[in-house]
Formats: sequence, C-alpha cells, structure tokens
Amino acid sequence: LSDRLAETFKNLRTKGKLSAADVDGTVREIRRALLDADVALEVVKDFTGRVRERALGDEVNKALNPAQQVVQIVNDELVTILGGQQRRLEFAKKPPTIIMLAGLQGAGKTTLAGKLAKWLAKDGHTPVLVAADLQRPNAVTQLEVVAKQAGVAVYAPQPGNGVGDPVKVARDGVKFAQQKLHDVVIIDTAGRLGVDAEMMKQAADIRRATDPDEVLFVIDAMIGQDAVATAKAFQDGVDFTGVVLTKLDGDARGGAALSVASLTGRPIMFASTGEGLDDFEPFHPDRMAGRILDLGDILTLIEQAQGAFDEDEARKVAEKFATDTFTLDDFLGQMQQLRNMGSIKKMMSMLPGAGAMKQQLENFDEREIVRTEAIIQSMTKVERTTPKLLNGSRRLRIAKGSGSTVTEVNQLVQRFEQAAKMMKTVAKGGMPNIPGMGPI
Ligand code: GDP
Ligand code: MG
Repeated sequence: LSDRLAETFKNLRTKGKLSAADVDGTVREIRRALLDADVALEVVKDFTGRVRERALGDEVNKALNPAQQVVQIVNDELVTILGGQQRRLEFAKKPPTIIMLAGLQGAGKTTLAGKLAKWLAKDGHTPVLVAADLQRPNAVTQLEVVAKQAGVAVYAPQPGNGVGDPVKVARDGVKFAQQKLHDVVIIDTAGRLGVDAEMMKQAADIRRATDPDEVLFVIDAMIGQDAVATAKAFQDGVDFTGVVLTKLDGDARGGAALSVASLTGRPIMFASTGEGLDDFEPFHPDRMAGRILDLGDILTLIEQAQGAFDEDEARKVAEKFATDTFTLDDFLGQMQQLRNMGSIKKMMSMLPGAGAMKQQLENFDEREIVRTEAIIQSMTKVERTTPKLLNGSRRLRIAKGSGSTVTEVNQLVQRFEQAAKMMKTVAKGGMPNIPGMGPI
C-alpha cells in the first residue's frame, strides 16, 4: 500500500498549482492503491470522494504548497478511517472490568488474552483469564499455558463444574474474580473457521450473561476481503466495542482490516504483531496512517522540490509581468531557478503562466543559460532594470565583458522583450497571438 501511494505523491510533488486534472489523477491512483490493498470498495469510494472534494476546494488553492496540502488531506482522511483518536480501554467504575474477546478461530484471541493480561499486569492490574472456549479439546490448556507465560491467574472449568457450558463458565469466572479481587476479567471465547449461527448465539449469550465493559472483536489482518463480511456478522450477532488487528507482522496488505473500523464504526484499539506475548501495542490511528503514507519520506521529497523553486519568488515575478516592471535581473533570476531545478521541462508547470515561455525555454540548453547569465551580469544595474538604454555601444561593451558576440547580446535582449510582452498579456488574462508561436 505504502509503495503505491508514495509513487503517487512523488508525482504530485513536482506540481505547484494543482489543476482539477491533477487532483483527479491523484485520486485515481489513491483509489487503485487502496483497492489493491484490499480496502473495501465502499470505504474506498467514500474516502476518495472526501479527498477529492477537499483537494479541489479552497484549502488547497490557497495553500502555499498545494501538493503538501493534498498529502495532509489524505493523511487526515486515513486517520479518520482508522478511527480518529486512539481509544483507550474503558474500565468499570466498580471492578472487575470485564473484557470479552470474540472472533473467528485462529484470529489470535487466546494469544491476545495473554498479551492483554501481561500488558495490564505491568500497569498494576490483577487480571484473570477465563477459559470460555470449550469447543476445541485443548483450548483450555492453551489458555492455561498463556496465563502462566503472562504470569497471571486463570479460571478454567473443573470436571463436573460446568463442563460443556461456556456461558456458565464465563459467569462463574466473573464471580471468581469478584471473590479473589481480580480487577480485570478477560473472557476467551470459541471461534469457528467460518461464521455460524450457533457460535454467534453462544457469544451473544456470554455477552448477555456477563455484561462486559468491552467486547473486542479480534481479526486477522491477513484475512483479506472476507474481513468486512466477518466483521458485519459479528457486529450483528454479538456487537463489539472495539477491534483488535492481529498478525500485522505478516505481509498482510491489511486493507480489508482497515475497512472494518470504517464500516462498523468501531475503533481499532490494539495491534498484535507477533506470536510472543510482548508483540502487542495500543493502536494509534495517526501513526498507522503515517506508516501507510510513509509521510516523513514524502514530505522530504516535497521539501526538496520546494527548495529548488521558491513559490513566493514566482508570484513576485508574475506580479512584475503584470505591472510591466519585469527586468533583466528577474529574467536571469528565473532562469537560474530553472537551472537549480535540474530538468527545465519537468519543472515548467511550476511557473505561473510559464506555458507562454515554454517553447522558448525548452530550447535552452545549459550552455545557453550560462551565456545568458554572463551577458546579464556584464550589464550595469540601470541597464538591467531599463533595457531601453541598451544602445549599440553599450551592447558592444557587454559583449566584450561577457565573452560573447553582439549578435548574442541582441538575441538575448530580443528574447527578453518578447517574453516580457507575452507574459504581460498572459498575466492580464489575455491570449497573446505571436506569429510562429502557435496557441498557448
Ligand atoms: P484463537 O483461535 O483466536 O484463539 O487464536 P490463537 O490465539 O490460538 O492464535 C492462532 C495462531 O496465530 C497461533 O499459532 C498464534 O501463535 C498465532 N498468532 C496470534 N497472534 C499473532 C500475531 O499477531 N502474529 C503472528 N505472526 N501470529 C499470531
Ligand atoms: Mg483460542
């Protein structure tokens, strides 16, 4: 996902002012990148719609750096998709706080129970894990092992004491916590490989019986497009208060999982990043968005483009064109800027109204710029601001001083006058009609 978007923004960074076509092109690329990453179509449409609207709006037109502004908008909207602010666990006013885990088999619920417990214990909590998954033969044992690794208590069904009834186990687990003064109860539940009605009913019954403060829907980031259907089924069947993304350490494109927050309106609260109990962290939407966009990198690229071309300067020049105060110094300055940017043609679009000069400047090569520089630098200050003063003897002096011919000096002055005249017309909004130049 990151690579595709980085490429898109790399293309954007070469733009100064953004046209509607630029924005559309960018939005199209973002759309493709998100779809490639398995983000649900519904979410992609919504996302790109909002980006497009904002990118075409005033906030971008007025921005000093429109490209950067678009990156910012994309970032903001990604953060929104990911749930906006980071959401912390809700603790019960009167302990114990009850956290129920739900999700498909293999999503990582049992592992998460251990991670969450260890993390909470580090913070001074005294969690107990409750083994309400009685579906798989060794599920209880697995939770006991995890609890031991995490160094926390576990409540597991004893023979003859509720075996086969996960709802009763969950309820008894909460009672156990109250008696033993555990301040957090984490209820592990059973999952199936696919969504089925019986499992959903069991989870819903556990929820009803224990009235948890949090129900965390645990979802494997590798699951792909199935994520959306699965999440919706769990929302309808059990409902949940938050999402935990697991297996983010894999090479999952993760897009589908990202859709889950948007489509269910439930925030992603934690991320699991490995099999170890410490491979776990609270989920920060802004950091995740930054990682997706690789924002740091993009901003660097944009700054590089900025450094090569000063937009303020360009605006001043356009102003001078319009008011007929454009001088040979400005002409030189503009050319030097162009040279700084390396590729003149590529950067032409950054110059306000540069289309008019494009054809001429396209023919410039590096040596020509150096020669122009030498000629203008051989002029006096007054000559540069008032080119009309340049009579024959002055031109001869300038040619000698710059190591060029009078013809070359004449050509430069002519080109300058032509450019100034043309730019003046363009700046005033007219369409200059110069023979041989073609339409601009
Ligand atoms: P459950 O069926 O939902 O309880 O899932 P488990 O907790 O038993 O996890 C299923 C498998 O996924 C186990 O082999 C875990 O070690 C593994 N697993 C869980 N979370 C992660 C994770 O974040 N990253 C990786 N790579 N593996 C994980
Ligand atoms: Mg399990």
